[in-house]
Amino acid sequence: MKRFSVISLGCSKNLVDSEYICERFLHAGFAIAEDPQDADIVVVNTCDFLRSAVEESIKAILELVDEGKDVICAGCLVSRYKKELLKELTGVRLFAGPGTYDTLPDVLDDLNDRYMAPYFGQVVSRSFISTGSSAYLKVCEGCSNHCNYCLIPSLRGELISKPVEIIEKEIKHLADSGVKEIVLIGQDLGSYGKDLGNPVGLVELLNRIAGIGGPEWIRIMYVHPASISDELIDIIRDNPRICPYIDMPIQHISDNVLKAMARKGGRPAVESAIEKIVDKGISIRSTVMVGHPGEDEHAFYELEEFISKGYIDHLGVFEFSPEPGTISYSMKPQLPGPVEGRRKHRIMSIQQEISRNRLKSFVGQKIKVLLMGYHSETDLLLEGRAVFQAPDVDGCVIINQGDAPFGSFCNVEITDSLDYDLIGRIV
Ligand code: SF4
Repeated sequence: MKRFSVISLGCSKNLVDSEYICERFLHAGFAIAEDPQDADIVVVNTCDFLRSAVEESIKAILELVDEGKDVICAGCLVSRYKKELLKELTGVRLFAGPGTYDTLPDVLDDLNDRYMAPYFGQVVSRSFISTGSSAYLKVCEGCSNHCNYCLIPSLRGELISKPVEIIEKEIKHLADSGVKEIVLIGQDLGSYGKDLGNPVGLVELLNRIAGIGGPEWIRIMYVHPASISDELIDIIRDNPRICPYIDMPIQHISDNVLKAMARKGGRPAVESAIEKIVDKGISIRSTVMVGHPGEDEHAFYELEEFISKGYIDHLGVFEFSPEPGTISYSMKPQLPGPVEGRRKHRIMSIQQEISRNRLKSFVGQKIKVLLMGYHSETDLLLEGRAVFQAPDVDGCVIINQGDAPFGSFCNVEITDSLDYDLIGRIV
C-alpha cells in the first residue's frame, strides 16, 4: 500500500485544507506516513500570505525534491504563481491549488498535465480538522473586502458561505465524535451569509448551532471590525455555549493608515467595535500590521497609544510585506525593514506587559479549563486552555498538580502566572 504525508505550512486556516487532503488520500486507499521520509508521496500544502511563507514553502518543496520524493504542491502558492512554478519547479509531480482536492488522489495514476484546475464550489465543501477535543470548522471561503495589502480575494475569490444545513450536519458529526470545542473560521467570518443575501448571517448561524447539543464551546475567529454589531455582541454575551472571545484583526488605528490599507470603516469602525465589546466580559484577540506605507511617526505613535490602553488581550504583530499583485506593493514611501522591525518589537513589548499584568489578576482564582494533554515542552506537566485562550494562537494553562482525562473540563486553581501563560492545579 502506498503511503502519503501532508506538510501543512502557514496559518491554522491551512490546517483545515490539509486535513481534507488527508481524508481524501485515506479514502482512496493510501496509508498515512507520519514522517515524510517514510512516504511515497508528499503533499506540501503551501501558504503565500506573506513573503516569508512563500520562501518557507519553496524551501520545503526543493528539499523534498532533492531527496527524491514524489512531491505534490498544493495550496495558495499554486493559484498565485502557477506559470512560474510550472517553469521553475520541474521536479514537482503535480500542482494542485485550492478547489482541486476532492479528486486529487484519483488523478495520480493517470497524469496528463502537471497542473490541476480548480472547480467552482469545492472550496467551501471541504470540512473540518479536529485535534482531539477541539475542531476547526470552515464556514466560508474567500473575502470581498479587498484590503490593499492582501491577496486573499484574488487567490481565494469573493466570499462564498457554506449553507447552514451543511454546517449543522458537520457540527452534529463532531459532537458525536466527542469534540468539546468548535472554532468557526473563514477569511471573513463576520460577513458569513452576505453572499446568500443574509446581512445578519453570522448571528443567525450562531443561534442555530448553539441550539445543537454537543460541543460546550463555540468560538468565532476572524471578524472584521466593521462587522461587529450589537446583535453579535449580545449573542456572544448571552449564550453560555458561545465563548466570550472574539478574534477581530484591526490591523492599525491611524485613520490615514487604515485608509491607505483600504480597511472598511477606517478608525471609526475599530473604535465602534471596541466600544461595543469592552466591559462585556469578552476577550479580544487581534492583529496589527506595522510599517504599511503611510505609517509615519505620528501614525505609529497613535498605534502605540491605542495598544497601551489594554483593550486587547492577545495580540499578533506583523511587519508589512509588499506582495506583488497588491495595491500596497507600489505605494510610497516603503519603510526600511529595520524600522519595521523596531516598531514590531515596540508594540510587542507594550503588549507583553499588558498580558503579564492581566494574567497576574487570575492568581488565586478558580477557572474552568479544557484539558488538552501533556504540555508541549515536557510530559511532566499538563496543558489546558481557559475560555479566553484559543487553540494554537494564545497562551495556555500549565497544570503542575492533579489529573483528569484528556479532553475533559476541569476546575483549576491558578497559582502563578507568566507573560502569556497561567500555572495552576486541578481542584
Ligand atoms: S478582510 Fe482580511 S482576508 Fe479580507 S481582504 Fe482584508 S486582510 Fe484580506
